[in-house]
Amino acid sequence: MQTRRKFLKHSIAVPALGIAGLNPFRSTSLSQTQKTPYDYILVEGHRDIYEFNDRFGAGESSPLAESMLPRYMEGGLDVIIMPVGGTHPALRGGNHKMLEGTLQTLDMIIREIEKTGGRAGIIRNKEDIPTLPNRNKVWFFLDMEGAEPIQINPESGFVPDRRLALLRSFYRMGVRGIQLTHNERNYLADGIAMEGRGASGLTPFGIEVVEEMNRLGMMVGVSHMAEAGILQVAELSNSPIVSTHTNIRPFVDTPRQHTDTAVKAIASTGGVVGIRYINAGGVHTPYELLVDEIDHISDLVGVQHTGVGWYGHDIGDPRGGAQSANATETELQTMYEQRDSFIQLLSKRRYSDEHIGMILGGNFIRIWNEILK
Ligand SMILES: [Zn+2]
Repeated sequence: MQTRRKFLKHSIAVPALGIAGLNPFRSTSLSQTQKTPYDYILVEGHRDIYEFNDRFGAGESSPLAESMLPRYMEGGLDVIIMPVGGTHPALRGGNHKMLEGTLQTLDMIIREIEKTGGRAGIIRNKEDIPTLPNRNKVWFFLDMEGAEPIQINPESGFVPDRRLALLRSFYRMGVRGIQLTHNERNYLADGIAMEGRGASGLTPFGIEVVEEMNRLGMMVGVSHMAEAGILQVAELSNSPIVSTHTNIRPFVDTPRQHTDTAVKAIASTGGVVGIRYINAGGVHTPYELLVDEIDHISDLVGVQHTGVGWYGHDIGDPRGGAQSANATETELQTMYEQRDSFIQLLSKRRYSDEHIGMILGGNFIRIWNEILK
């Protein structure tokens, strides 16, 4: 197998790589797939707004249309699940006010999409869900990372039904997913920071939110939740739940990552676990660990419950390389190369083209067809 360094060295000498969809290093063996990233609907389970923050900070006025969309299209990306606000200030463009910062971020994304002249859109309903790969359109599925912005502190005499007013308002503005917690405890449930400190499941408000999200047609997310809450949400939800961006134990052995028990609970709802690329420590090529984890989930609960949470930083992303804890300069590829590397590794492990399509995005597409109105 090519080492990463070698691959990059050669790829620089072949400028057509990616654009023509031809990979000179691809095995010619008949069993290896001939498919490219452009043959699949690619869904990225989690992409933070940080690149927007960086580019606005550097003085760009329309970063999506001018800098980001061309890269996404070259990479064959079809749908990005993007949190537009949530628990941490960086998710709100630095604004420390939960609700105000989240509203500003939501407006920023909608404005940026409006400036693309129809080349980007927001998935709101079933009819927006892509049915074929399309290199001329990138869809956003708007998520929220941590439900603090929809919390209402009930005062005495408060009409109970109004507790869900902010949830419904965000739905009307286009938000279709909410990760119930980030790492911390909130009014809904405990995040993984409470693991080992008496982490508990859903509060009465958390239960109301899940039920209302089910009714509205929203995707319930549990990536950063403590396991007690994940198990309870899986019991309660009457539509598939997701972990958009998490690794699994023992491959990455920290409380942030899911145990087999949590994976099984998510799968029991018909849901998806999106595995995120992380630096494999130089022993593997960048995507081998990701494929190892996909293998594990496939063996445990089936390939229909796998997805990709994040592919890592790419060439062109200002947060790539030294700025990121998750990538080194030598690991950076174009988006096309990242997806192509991943597809080839999956194929080497003998996933069929159909299964690769499910892993790359088909599974998210399937559950959106169940969840959305
Ligand atoms: Zn996260």
